[in-house]
Amino acid sequence: MAAPDASARMHHSTAETEGAVDLVLDHARRRILEEHPPLNRSRTPGELSRLAAGTLTEDGIGAREALSVFERILAPACVTLAHPRHLSFIPGAPTKAATAFDLAVSAANAYGGSWLESSGAIFAENEVLAFLAREFGLPAEAGGAFVQGGTLGNLSALVAARDAALRKRNGHRPPRWRVVCSAEAHSSLVTAAKVMDIDITLAPTGADGKLTGQAVERALGRYGDEVFAVVATAGSTNFGIVDDIASLTRLRPRHDFWLHVDGAYGLAAMLTPERRELFRGVELADSLTVDPHKWLFAPFDACALLYRDPGAARAAHAQDAAYLDPLHDAPGWNPADYAVHLSRRTRGLPLWFSLATHGAGAYRAAIARCLHLAEEIAEEIRARPRLSLVRDPELSVVVFRREGWRKADYTAWSDRLLREQTALVVPSSHQGEPVTRFALVNPAATREELIEVLDTMER
Ligand SMILES: *Cc1c(COP(=O)(O)O)cnc(C)c1O
Repeated sequence: MAAPDASARMHHSTAETEGAVDLVLDHARRRILEEHPPLNRSRTPGELSRLAAGTLTEDGIGAREALSVFERILAPACVTLAHPRHLSFIPGAPTKAATAFDLAVSAANAYGGSWLESSGAIFAENEVLAFLAREFGLPAEAGGAFVQGGTLGNLSALVAARDAALRKRNGHRPPRWRVVCSAEAHSSLVTAAKVMDIDITLAPTGADGKLTGQAVERALGRYGDEVFAVVATAGSTNFGIVDDIASLTRLRPRHDFWLHVDGAYGLAAMLTPERRELFRGVELADSLTVDPHKWLFAPFDACALLYRDPGAARAAHAQDAAYLDPLHDAPGWNPADYAVHLSRRTRGLPLWFSLATHGAGAYRAAIARCLHLAEEIAEEIRARPRLSLVRDPELSVVVFRREGWRKADYTAWSDRLLREQTALVVPSSHQGEPVTRFALVNPAATREELIEVLDTMER
């Protein structure tokens, strides 16, 4: 049995709790400042049970022992996302300032749902949202909240869109509601449709992978007023392709729909002048999402969700409960009112701190660096007889094939690279053909170390 005062002891600054705090902060400091962390790899449940089970006991094992298990066994069984040769999925590369500030966010533990409780933190988060809204060309009244990720951002935007449509139609519902997006759109939209019990049309894209107004117009013609929202993808996850957003906006006002832009990965590229042109039309979106944990150098987990008319989102999302009334009655911005969430961490603050520390210019340069890296790698692939691009990269995802390789060859190659701790590059596929891809969101990666990965495909 624990001592009777153990519950109180763990909340006071005793020698024991100070020791725990120091150990954790020392660990975090080392981890954040480490210049060349190992890539690491996952272990099987069996391996981990053998090595790390039994940490939870009635009397506690103490901070030193618990942290030791984490440092020796658990942390090395987690891949280092910001490793320069983590090239799969969409990785991330948080700045050291942003990562460190996540500790400050934890220490403050502000309730990020309401202005009444956390005006200071929410003010700073809103500074970031306003900065992003300006970059994307949204009006000054635009606003929203940081949510956990792009999946929740897309769902929240579509819920607001349907609610707005219902109000516009005086509560008259079509037999089914429907959203239209591209066949290359992110899987989270299908998930959102499932959660909302609505239908989804995956409209075909052109040979360039882009959704156009023409394809959407066909869907609108077919489904009429079932369609309440069209989703444009601004940087597809697999290829980094930006839909022809301007052509979608030209369908209005002939057709009335909410335009959501899913820019979880790609919208960050709007911060550089060189690719801005690709995103024309974003400024007319009703809502958009961009994930700071993808290409804005913030740690997990954060999606900036912005609405052109925040009032419409509030009408859809504000929760109603007697115990919450004081929050609604008080003046100020309540992030809880803009998404499918209530309690929330002020997860926009790491980006605020890092952006304030380094300045927007450093962000523009870091994003541009990733774009250039992608161009250099594409050039290198073009120059190699046994490699070829599936498409010219539009943003910072490079998709390519190795002549003569079947799926099993890609898998064996990928397994070997991870086993040897060289890189994390997984096989992908395009129209049934096995391919692989580099997703480049880490400005610390060098051309040389990426070329070493290409070299392993020539053996
Ligand atoms: C990653 C991604 C998402 C999902 O974002 P999460 O933060 O992983 O939930 C949605 N859309 C696109 C285009 C993405 O790349």
